[in-house]
Order: sequence, then C-alpha cells, then structure tokens
Amino acid sequence: MEPIESIFRDIVEGSPYPIYMVTGNDMIVRVANSATLKAWGKDSSVIGKPFIEALPEMHDQPYVNLIKKVFNTGESYHTNNDRVDFIIDGKIETFYFKFTYQPMRDAYGNIYGVVCFATDVTELERAKQTLEESRMTLYNLIKQVPVGICIVRANDLMIEVMNDSYLEMAGKERRLVENHTIWDAVPEVADSYAPVMNKVINTGEPFFAKEHELLLIRNGKPEFVFVDFVFEPVWHFEGTINAIMIIAIEVTDKVLFRRNIEDAEERGRLAIEAAEIGTFDLNMITQTTITSSRFNTIFGHSKPVPWKNLIDSFHPEDRDIRTRAHEEAYKTGKLFYEARVIHPDESVHWIRTQAKLYYNSKNIPIRMLGTVLDITEFKRLQQQKDDFISVASHELKTPMTSLKASMQILDKLIKSNSSADKVPVFIEKANSSLSKMQHLIESLLNVSKIASGQLSLNKSVFKVAHMVNECCDHVRMSGKHELILTGDTNIEIYADCEKIDQVIVNMVNNAAKYAPDSDKIIINITANGKTAKISVQDFGDGIPSEKIPHLFERYYRVDSSGLQYSGMGLGLYISAEIVERHGGQIGVKSEAGRGSTFWFTLPAIV
Ligand code: ADP
Repeated sequence: MEPIESIFRDIVEGSPYPIYMVTGNDMIVRVANSATLKAWGKDSSVIGKPFIEALPEMHDQPYVNLIKKVFNTGESYHTNNDRVDFIIDGKIETFYFKFTYQPMRDAYGNIYGVVCFATDVTELERAKQTLEESRMTLYNLIKQVPVGICIVRANDLMIEVMNDSYLEMAGKERRLVENHTIWDAVPEVADSYAPVMNKVINTGEPFFAKEHELLLIRNGKPEFVFVDFVFEPVWHFEGTINAIMIIAIEVTDKVLFRRNIEDAEERGRLAIEAAEIGTFDLNMITQTTITSSRFNTIFGHSKPVPWKNLIDSFHPEDRDIRTRAHEEAYKTGKLFYEARVIHPDESVHWIRTQAKLYYNSKNIPIRMLGTVLDITEFKRLQQQKDDFISVASHELKTPMTSLKASMQILDKLIKSNSSADKVPVFIEKANSSLSKMQHLIESLLNVSKIASGQLSLNKSVFKVAHMVNECCDHVRMSGKHELILTGDTNIEIYADCEKIDQVIVNMVNNAAKYAPDSDKIIINITANGKTAKISVQDFGDGIPSEKIPHLFERYYRVDSSGLQYSGMGLGLYISAEIVERHGGQIGVKSEAGRGSTFWFTLPAIV
C-alpha cells in the first residue's frame, strides 16, 4: 500500500482541474499540478518560487491580495467567473476561471497556506459574450430598421422590445409602452387583434395582414391608416413559443395613391362608357389588337375580330382616307380621321378615329392606343343642317321673288298711271308675301330662342274653342277645307294664348298642306280630369310609321327633298317645345293612306 501522502499527490496531480497551493507570508508555490502549469503557461520550475515571482503578471491583478486576505483572515474566497490575464509565450492572454481560495490549517488551527481549486470557464464565458454581442447586434438592428418591430412575450403579452419605427407608426411615446402589455400600449386595436395574436400563440401559425385598415390613436388623434404586418411566433429551442414578433409597415400612402389611380381609371372608364367611346390597343409589329366591346359594336361585331377584317370593312370610297391618315400618323404620332364602315348587315356607319402612336428606342412605332366613336347620328344631323340651310333659303326666296314681282308690277302700274284698280290686288299680294316671310323669320327666331332657353311664356286663362274659332279663319277663307270643331267647347286652360295659337295654326296648316285633297279638318277638344286634349285630324296620305318618331325633331321633313311641299321642318319642333314648356304632351296617330291626327295636351282648369 502506497503511503497516503503519495496517493493524495497522485490524485492532485492527475486532476484535470487546476489545483495549487502557496504557503507562508511570502506565498511560496508549493504545489501546482500539471493542469495549473498548463493554465499558467509555465513549467515546473515555478514550484518553490514565491507566487509573484512565478507569475509576475499578477502584480497588477487582485489575486495576490486576495490570497493574502484568505491567509490572514481564514475566510475562503469563491468566485464563479473571474477574469485572469496570464503571459503565455510572452503574450498577455485573458482567461476566465471559476475558483475557490481556501485556507490550509495545521493541527493547531494555524493557517500555513492557501489552496486554490479552479475550473477554466473561458469558453463558456466567450460563448456568453458572443451571445450577448449578437443579441446587441440584433437589438441595434431592430432599433435601426425602417420597419416597425415589436417583440411581445408569449406568456404575459408584455412588450420586450419596440423599435422607434413601431412607436412612430403607432403614434405612442416610449414611456407609455415600456413595461406594458401590447394591448395596454395600443388598446384601440385590441378588440380586433388580441384574438388573432392568441391564436398565433396557441397554434404557432403566423398571421399575415395585407393592407389592413386600422383606426390608430396617434399622438392623441384618431387616424385611419393602412398597414401590412405579420405576427410571427418566436420559438424556444424546447419547442414552445417564447414570443411573438410583430413586423409592421405602414402602407397608407401606397394604398391611397393606388386608390387614386383606380378612381381615376374608373372615372376614365365611366367617361368612356358614357361617351360610348370604343377603345383599341394595336400592336403594330404583330398587327394584333385588344379592343373594347364598344369598339367591336361600332364595327358591327359582337366579339373581337382580326385587324385585317376591320380594315376590309371600310367603305370602298373611304379606304384612301384611312390609309392616308395612317401614313400621316407615322410622321406625326397622331391619328385622326372620319370615314364610313360597312357592318356585316351591310348598314353604313360613320366613325371618327383618334389615336396616339408609341415608339421604341429606335424610333419605330410599335403600339397605337386610340378611340373610335360612332358619329353616324352626328353626320346625319350635320347633313340635315346643311339641307336645312338650302331649304330655308329656298323658302325665303319664294315669297321674296313674288314680293319683288308684285313691287315691280306696282311700280309699273303707278308709273303708267293706268289700271289703278289693280293696285290693291298687288298690294294684297305683296302683303301676303311679306307675312309669309315674316312667319318664316319668326319660326327661325323661335328656334334660336328655344336653343338658348329663352322661350318665355305669358300665361292667361282662356277658352280653347274660342281661340280655335278665331285663329284659323285663313283656312276657312281659302275655301278648300271645311273646319269642324267638336268636343267640349267650354274647356278653359291657363296658358300662353299666342303660343298655343301658333301650335294649333301649325297643325291646321299642316293638315291643309299635307292633305290637300281631303275636304275636312276636324278639331276636337276634350278634357280628361285635369288634362285638356286638343287634336287636329286630316284625311290625307298619313305618315309612314318609321318616320313618326322623327316628326318633332328640328329640321325634320318626311320628304326631305322638299319637292312636293314647301316647309322648313320647324313647325312641329317649335310646337313640341311650346307644349312641353306648358307641362303637356304632344303626339300623332297616323297610318299611311288613312290620314293623321296630331294632338297635344295641356293642364285644364276644372
Ligand atoms: P314643315 O311643315 O315646315 O315641313 P313641320 O315641323 O310642321 O314642318 O312638319 C314636319 C314634317 O311632318 C313635314 O315636313 C311633313 O312631312 C310631316 N307632316 C306634318 N304634318 C303632317 C300631316 N298632317 N300629314 C302628313 N305629314 C305631315
């Protein structure tokens, strides 16, 4: 059996942990196992030397004094983590040790030395430091990023971190959120999102919100904002959820900007729809198009058709117009023309095309964006107006010619001083021509008054029958037609007498003019409740049903050539305006070959 002393020495020597002992006031290193020498970076020559000589680097470190204190007081010293610097191979190196200094006593209880049991915890300490450094890096990162980040503890919803961007977005002060739960910090959204966050904690499923509209109380003011955010669970390595990370970006400007664009697009779209504009987008390289359904309709199709077919549908006489406009557009970047197209049902329509060209970097046109409008009606009205001007001048010319003739004859008669008895005849003729001209001019003036909204009414109460009797003497006197008045002759109306007179006269004149061979014109007056109805019936040729809807339009004449009957197509238009201004209605019942009944209603006095 080895002596016990040598057994202990072997145990100490074999220990993987540093163990050393110093004795006496001068602290001679008496024992230092190989783990100690290794930690110190020294060899066994240090054994037997004073501690401060063995480790000169200790002169500015606290350990010499600490050992002395243990030696003097008998109180041991313990540390879990102390930094110690050793000179290893001539260089200062830092280590961390967990160690204990213990006093050694002899049989009498006197302290003769101090023993040190140590564990090198340098690696553990380094790992801790690294962890702390990366934690700090993360925190700094969180602090600086321009998105809102908030970390909320999962178990009690306390806010662990809330960066400045988050505070700014939420419109809160740091002191009001630190040491608070998330829902104390932003109570205004708790109702909506507390259940959502609880679900994330319970299920571990993150929650993504895109453009959520929130009412936030920012710096005391309620504001509607749009936010993209995510509730992301932060997992502990044990598999539990430690925290919820909220990452949030305010997107209000983006959303509002987009909405503005959407609104503008919608307005544009509505305007296009309201104006019945067809739109097209032509790829000039591939000759392919995207067309709106209105565009297709304008060309007479119910679905898109190839560009080539559209080109073929132009009226042969107008193909040149289109080709030239396209050639011009290549030069100017703008397309504009009006031309006729022929629908598959062979009907002809006028269109107006406007477009803009887009070029690539080599200045080659690659795209054409444009609109197409059906201007058939516009062209028809334009034509009608042109026709009207020639009709009106013709109408004025006729009485003027006869007036001129009457004047010449009168001139001759007066100069020759003969046939004085003929003078009144020609004065009468001249007067009649004058009043025809006056009537025509008044019609024209009425039209411009209507157009500018200046047709004013001068109302009074009168009996319709009374007025009818007085107004149409000229027809009676011409002797061609018998005027028959039927119905309730006592009906009174409150209206502009002169203008209603004009309406009736026009209807009676038309009856006489367009039914020259029939002998009767019946004027009927009836009342139905508060409405009086006056109708003028003739037994002429009547009006083809397809023409009836246009009769009350300005300048409209069934026989637009004006060969058979004279007229400007204004009488019924003016009549309709007068009747409508009185709150009444106007219409016609007619069948070709069976005569016509023109009627109108007015509010009656009962
Ligand atoms: P105008 O008689 O000057 O042409 P109006 O506005 O009074 O103008 O009439 C419009 C058109 O309606 C006439 O050109 C005629 O073709 C048709 N019309 C009017 N009244 C009659 C009628 N009683 N019978 C047949 N056609 C009529």
